[in-house]
Amino acid sequence: MTTSHALFEKAQKVIPGGVNSPVRAFKGVGGTPIFIEKAQGAYIFDSEGKRYIDYVGSWGPMVLGHNHPTIIDAVLKSIPNGLSFGAPTAKEIELAELVCKLVPSIELVRMVSSGTEATMSAIRLARGYTKRDKIIKFEGCYHGHSDSLLVKAGSGALTLGQPSSPGVPEDFAKHTLTCVYNDINSVKAAFEQYPDQIACLIIEPVAGNMNCIPPKEGFLQGLRELCTQYGTVFIIDEVMTGFRVALGGAQTYYGVTPDLTTLGKIIGGGMPVGAFGGKKEIMEYIAPTGPVYQAGTLSGNPIAMAAGLACLTELSKSGNQEKLANQTQILAQGFKSLADKHNIPLCVQYVGGMFGIFFTEQEKVENYQDVAKCDAEKFNTFFHKMLKQGIYLAPSAFEAGFMSLAHNEEDITLTLKAADHAFAEMK
Ligand code: PMP
Repeated sequence: MTTSHALFEKAQKVIPGGVNSPVRAFKGVGGTPIFIEKAQGAYIFDSEGKRYIDYVGSWGPMVLGHNHPTIIDAVLKSIPNGLSFGAPTAKEIELAELVCKLVPSIELVRMVSSGTEATMSAIRLARGYTKRDKIIKFEGCYHGHSDSLLVKAGSGALTLGQPSSPGVPEDFAKHTLTCVYNDINSVKAAFEQYPDQIACLIIEPVAGNMNCIPPKEGFLQGLRELCTQYGTVFIIDEVMTGFRVALGGAQTYYGVTPDLTTLGKIIGGGMPVGAFGGKKEIMEYIAPTGPVYQAGTLSGNPIAMAAGLACLTELSKSGNQEKLANQTQILAQGFKSLADKHNIPLCVQYVGGMFGIFFTEQEKVENYQDVAKCDAEKFNTFFHKMLKQGIYLAPSAFEAGFMSLAHNEEDITLTLKAADHAFAEMK
């Protein structure tokens, strides 16, 4: 048995910061990251055997819970046939058909290996299709780490206090216009300034990389109208929200139709998968049918396709989305009433299977400026008090929490009991 502390020391000698993705390092919340040995259902177990109720779920993919038998079985069945062919397979068609069925705005879909690749490729496609260079994104939204998108990006970049990263040439960043989430006037202003230069607008339909911020009523529809008016490709980034906010993604939940959609996380059931898809006319503009280049050696990997197909098939079963949303609501409202009991100002926001807790007097948190006003120190204290009691929340005040179908009533009760203790100590 090796402690997480010892593993972290060892890791830092060979891996930058000891981690393969920055938010894992606990930089924002302080302390030593826990090293995971194994996971099962709603639980993860660290290298010392301690069990935690997990509300990170590998940052979203584990919507059915860890090690779900249907997914494991599909992966094990697929392995003996070979790990990668770099040639087409029938499984790719099956997954593509299911995605097109579940997300009606998607007519054609291309598989990639991560969310970053999905958004990067969708943006290149939109630029090629419109023959324009500029893009619009929103402050606090994160869409992966490609150059055009690391401009005032959220997620790890926010936590580390680097709104845009060194290494991104100014010449790239200048094509990225950053608007204010939930503020349609900031978007109108951008379009009025560059009426025929904006290739695409990309948005998280529920922002999950600055904690959890739902769109205001009519905001997404307003974006749709502006994009149509200015001939701009409307991209809804459902890497986080896809199959979690609703089976058809946040776009069906809010009744808005994008031109392109990006997917990741759940679509791979825990294996490295992303996808982008949408209108046939635009999607046919990528190679080999069109001139915009995009490719991938491991794209449509057979094991990943088997895992994704099993995950989406299982998740599609009747009642699952309602259960996910219901459990999330019970947990979120539970946090809120306990905070009220202890006179701790707290705002909770949730949609479908994702939630956010903000230590703030504000009744609503609607954009990055509002998030920045929250008490990050209080979050850090709360995070560690929960961790000590075996509750694993996202190690950052800028990340949403994720519910899974494996969480049961007892898990939620235990979580709220732990929160009750934590709040009592924080008074
Ligand atoms: N888009 C969104 C909305 C995301 O939340 C993320 C990752 N959290 C990405 C894109 C990038 O995905 P990946 O980490 O798989 O590259």
